[in-house]
Amino acid sequence: MTRQVQALVVGGGISGLVCAYALRKAGVDAQLVEASSRPGGVINSVTRNGFLLELGPQSFSGTAALRQLCAELGIADQLLEAPPRAPRYVLINGALAPVPMGPGILFSNSFIDGAAKWGLLRDIFGKSIPPDSDESVGAFIRRKFSAQLLDRLVGPFVSNVYAGDPEKLSLRSAFPQLYDAEKSAGSIVRGMFRLAKTKKGPRERPTLNTFRDGNETLVRAIANILGPALQTQTRATGMVTRNGGFEIRVENNGGQDTLSAQSLILCAPTDVAGKLLGQLDSQFESLFASVEYAAVAVVSLGYRKSDVGHSLDGFGFLVPRSAGLRVLGTVWNSSLFPGRAPEGQTLLTSFVGGATDPAASKLTPEELAALVHREISPLLSIRSDPIFSNVTIWPRALAQYNLGHGDRLSRIASLLEKFPQLRLAGSYLRGPAIGSCVEQALAVVESVKASLVK
Ligand SMILES: Cc1cc2nc3c(=O)[nH]c(=O)nc-3n(C[C@H](O)[C@H](O)[C@H](O)COP(=O)(O)OP(=O)(O)OC[C@H]3O[C@@H](n4cnc5c(N)ncnc54)[C@H](O)[C@@H]3O)c2cc1C
Repeated sequence: MTRQVQALVVGGGISGLVCAYALRKAGVDAQLVEASSRPGGVINSVTRNGFLLELGPQSFSGTAALRQLCAELGIADQLLEAPPRAPRYVLINGALAPVPMGPGILFSNSFIDGAAKWGLLRDIFGKSIPPDSDESVGAFIRRKFSAQLLDRLVGPFVSNVYAGDPEKLSLRSAFPQLYDAEKSAGSIVRGMFRLAKTKKGPRERPTLNTFRDGNETLVRAIANILGPALQTQTRATGMVTRNGGFEIRVENNGGQDTLSAQSLILCAPTDVAGKLLGQLDSQFESLFASVEYAAVAVVSLGYRKSDVGHSLDGFGFLVPRSAGLRVLGTVWNSSLFPGRAPEGQTLLTSFVGGATDPAASKLTPEELAALVHREISPLLSIRSDPIFSNVTIWPRALAQYNLGHGDRLSRIASLLEKFPQLRLAGSYLRGPAIGSCVEQALAVVESVKASLVK
């Protein structure tokens, strides 16, 4: 017999978990199906040999919505905050240089060249107009500032957020606030100030957070509340429309089942969403298939503290592509949060691959661990081999908001108009950060609630 639910959520990463949680909190009979044996998607915290490892995201930026969610879930007291003044470093001319924070310091610093400083002055006192065509992040930074700023600061930042290629990433899709600021005020600095003024309520202090027992605390807390409304090892394989709603075929422990839902929210990555939606309209499949993903390897190495010469006083470091290393950046986990490594040991997590080095994800875990150790040892004065290593390769880690992304999403949105009870949530839509996924999921839930009331 076909089971009926008011709303079905497909995909139990953070986007789907928050959708299902918020729908049920609002009294909607919502069910969440997750293909794998555990919820959380790329958020995955594990303890091995006394090290608390994050296999995916290492931490997240605190947002008002996330803090509110943690309070509701009763896990706010488990939140940890990284030291706010801890420096971040970039590898410049073979040495780790602290990143200047704020435009004032940028001016006085030798970190960036005269062309970038002049560009900043021109931005503050002049007026510029973004081109009509979709502009890449790389082209934008060269147009407004300098190639050196792109290499030293913006490129590493882009690889930190998107593991992306600045020559391919679309400014207006990947960093819409910068695009909007220039478009509306003729200046990024003036536009950003204007935007800050329009924000209501007290100014939020930016924080970098995790939980005492790792990022997965958030996932477990939501999964506990969902209880049987979350079905793991249940993969959505097909769908048809029926009486204004949907019938979704699922595979579960080798068996087949059908769920009937008035409202459907797809929170699976684009390859899955495209295949499912392709069964309603074949145009969906090619649109979703054109969203590229970057592969990333997350390499965690443990060392005895006494074997590391560097003080590790900060967040970690990023590596400009011009430095010729394959490591994109390294997070100094033990310097940020307590309880990440056994006493007397330290945990360093590096990222390799991304859109500019797709071949890296084809290396074996042993090759990746050796590569990272070889590249970071001279930078951090590491005197011995690691005493622990763990490698996770994500072949489709992060969706790339590449040139044309905005158009693709608009075309998907217009195809969706034929299906008013069908919605999308996920990291390829409104930003990959966990906080953005949560905000987007909550907004989707508001629109589901409004449509179910009608
Ligand atoms: C290596 C890495 C580092 C990151 N670092 C950070 C960071 O430092 N800070 C930060 O804020 N963010 C970071 N992110 C980004 C952030 O973690 C993700 O964007 C976010 O967690 C994605 O959540 P999601 O629910 O949209 O997708 P996912 O986590 O991908 O979840 C999708 C879910 O759908 C399920 N699914 C797939 N097919 C089906 C099907 N047919 N039926 C049912 N279920 C299905 C999958 O099993 C999966 O559980 C990082 C991501 C990665 C990979």
